[in-house]
Amino acid sequence: MEYRKLGQTELEVSVLGYGASPLGNEFEEIDVREGERAVHMAVDCGINVFDTSPYYGRTLSEERLGRALGTRRKNIVLATKCGRYDIDKFDFSAGRVRSSVDESLRRLRTDYVDLFQMHDIEFVDREQVLNEALPVARELQRAGKCRYVGITGLPLGILQDVADRGSVDSILSYARYNLMVDDLDTMLRPFCQERGIGLINASPLHLRILTDRGAPDWHLASDAVKEAGARIADLCRQRGADVAQVALKYCYDYPHTASVLVGMSKSRHVEANLKTFGFEEREGLLDEIREIVEPVRNQVWPSGLPENQDPR
Ligand code: NAD
Repeated sequence: MEYRKLGQTELEVSVLGYGASPLGNEFEEIDVREGERAVHMAVDCGINVFDTSPYYGRTLSEERLGRALGTRRKNIVLATKCGRYDIDKFDFSAGRVRSSVDESLRRLRTDYVDLFQMHDIEFVDREQVLNEALPVARELQRAGKCRYVGITGLPLGILQDVADRGSVDSILSYARYNLMVDDLDTMLRPFCQERGIGLINASPLHLRILTDRGAPDWHLASDAVKEAGARIADLCRQRGADVAQVALKYCYDYPHTASVLVGMSKSRHVEANLKTFGFEEREGLLDEIREIVEPVRNQVWPSGLPENQDPR
């Protein structure tokens, strides 16, 4: 396992990170025992960064992750979030951020988290994130409840603006660097590099579009994007490759994000994703994938308030 430093923090994170949203049944109802096995296998195989949120499964993911980790918690970088509690329930007020961390710590069975992130900030007035949530998060850091502070979201412009005007150690960006979208590299990476802000890349499988099963029903990408994803999966199959492994390898090979977070609730997925490190690329495959992607390249769906969207 390769480990990379997260920005200017003291955290050395595994390039393959464990995304715990599937543990909260976000993609489908899971087998809880199997979810635990996946967590144990991940820790035992050197995956050291685990990302969850009170939003995933409306607290289910944190509870299940806390139970599954048990004493293994001490060896890992544990990341959770605050501010998002349901599809349309957000609260980044000072009081809620304070109570949120305590609730998360209880569910996660620990007395601190390594990374405390403001979840999906594009859904709210960014001034509240800047004036209430982030200053309180720093207060919680001084109190020892979290080691570092971050922000997360889909549009890149607001992430950069809030990181520029506020104080953050890391940014978690999702679905903006993978086989279908790569604008993270031009729109956010230079800023993060200049400021020493750690970058985490989530959803390398484009929230399941880049798997043999394809997108879940709730996926917000356009039909054209989903169809292109299905064509990529077909192409990989024809070439004797697994689309998820091709997609992951592409993200590991990008050196500017410290960790690539993949959602995993099955041990066979942990195993497959670990094997990707030794994966031999089929010659010419990436060029053929690029051709399929070209008409829909960098097409993402709107997320959050109209004023927080990236210009098209
Ligand atoms: P993803 O792109 O990682 O896809 C996850 C899906 O792919 C799951 O259904 C999983 O079962 C499946 N999968 C995993 N490995 C596979 C394999 N080898 N073969 C076939 N299928 C496989 O999407 P994600 O889970 O949304 O993103 C990863 C993590 O990043 C999340 O769990 C979460 O921790 C984090 N994240 C954070 C935000 C945010 O903060 N706003 C947004 C998205 C993701």
